[in-house]
Amino acid sequence: MKVLLTEDQLQQAIRRMAGEIAEHYRDRPLTIVGVMIGSIVLLADLIRLLDMPLRVELVQARSYRRNSTRPGPLVLNLDLLSSDVRDRDVLLVDDIFDTGHTLWELVPQLDELGPASIRTAVLLRKQGRCEVPIQPDYVGFDIPDAFVVGYGLDYNDLYRNLPYVAALESGEIREETGR
Ligand code: 5GP
Ligand code: MG
Repeated sequence: MKVLLTEDQLQQAIRRMAGEIAEHYRDRPLTIVGVMIGSIVLLADLIRLLDMPLRVELVQARSYRRNSTRPGPLVLNLDLLSSDVRDRDVLLVDDIFDTGHTLWELVPQLDELGPASIRTAVLLRKQGRCEVPIQPDYVGFDIPDAFVVGYGLDYNDLYRNLPYVAALESGEIREETGR
């Protein structure tokens, strides 16, 4: 495993993102919607840097399966939303923007609930992978195309608790063979 982003680098970027977010919304009431599970660590750090009236909500998106590092079918679940986002500004927060399909599909589903606006924030964006015509509004870091773990991101449900972001090396990845 090779460390890509240290705790200090992560905190510095999240402070910058929080500054940009606060600057945009000022004191408008915001609903931050985290995409489970990968965004929880970013979410916890980000909201504590935002001194404004905000609600926190969660939705679920899964595109990776077990020990695969390639996206499988995307499953979205908005049932966890507990409060009404109608007429509220919504900031969707995810761990990483890879092909972009997760945000591309989530944004219109949230939009059906009638929010005043929707913006998106991600900690990481992988270079050269985007397959959709949207980009996140707030990005912590652009990273090379490697499979990364830590700071909320998992491989096979492990490593979410690492305080840094690391790239897995080929010997650490056991792809499913399909049988
Ligand atoms: P997208 O839909 O943009 O292709 O992928 C977004 C989702 O795929 C992320 O929310 C994350 O769950 C997962 N993902 C994409 N790349 C990586 C990666 O390098 N490491 C991990 N752990 N998850 C990833
Ligand atoms: Mg995800």
